[in-house]
Amino acid sequence: MIVKDVLLCASNQVAHANQLNQHTTKLEAQLLLQHALQVDRAWLIAHEYDELPDKYYLLFEALLNRRINGEPIAHIIGYREFYGLRLKVTHDTLIPRPDTETLVEAALTKIPVTAHLNILDLGTGTGAIALAIAHNRLQSNVVASDISQQALNVAIENATNLTIQNVQFIASDWFLGLSHQQFDVIVSNPPYIEADDIHLHQGDLRFEPLSALASGRDGLDDIRRITYSAPNYLNPNGWLMFEHGYNQAQYVAEIMAENGFSQISHIKDLAEILRVTIGQLSKL
Ligand code: GLN
Repeated sequence: MIVKDVLLCASNQVAHANQLNQHTTKLEAQLLLQHALQVDRAWLIAHEYDELPDKYYLLFEALLNRRINGEPIAHIIGYREFYGLRLKVTHDTLIPRPDTETLVEAALTKIPVTAHLNILDLGTGTGAIALAIAHNRLQSNVVASDISQQALNVAIENATNLTIQNVQFIASDWFLGLSHQQFDVIVSNPPYIEADDIHLHQGDLRFEPLSALASGRDGLDDIRRITYSAPNYLNPNGWLMFEHGYNQAQYVAEIMAENGFSQISHIKDLAEILRVTIGQLSKL
């Protein structure tokens, strides 16, 4: 078969098996074939009318079958692009999502390029948020924490591979493992899904650590915990920013207001959903 037909056929199969739209699965088929052939996207496009040798077709088919069985694309190819960075992803981390780029952008608006600020990313996982901020704000220093040492190992490997040096990694249950450092901006994409949400049993979420996804009955347990302690770790006028669920913006705003934050506002993700809430500490 020629490359173009292989991709089309694979895209249809993945769309059908996982109930995804063709736009998504076309990209997924390309990523799988790139991985099987160890080529980049430009090569694939330039060679779309080439005949695919059987040997490579078999390699590709093995990867395709894993995807058809629901395994996340990021686990099959071992990485995910996030904010222009290629991040290693394993079963120990959440798979970075485009929604979370909204949180990175929100943080960058509060960190001038020339300022020397201290930033904290709680629950860093692959290091996605911390590394994206550090890479774009070289004068600032980022501390990235995670309760999971396995996740931190992945984040450290990502920092090393990307030669990003203005990040320190710390094993910590939210703030508990931090010394009394003060930060200018605290960001987090904590677990925020309701414990009994059926989505936890669907799609990629089935393959990701539950501890990175679910947070109590209303999904807000960790956001409450973090917001309660954040004032002790923020400089006066420092910012706290969360990614949260599609229906949680108002609750997150209330939790922030109850804990001394003001200037609270929301930011929409690419799907026009209020995905990020930010607040500034009013401290004398
Ligand atoms: N955004 C993810 C989802 O809904 C959840 C990530 C999280 O809980 N932080 O699929």
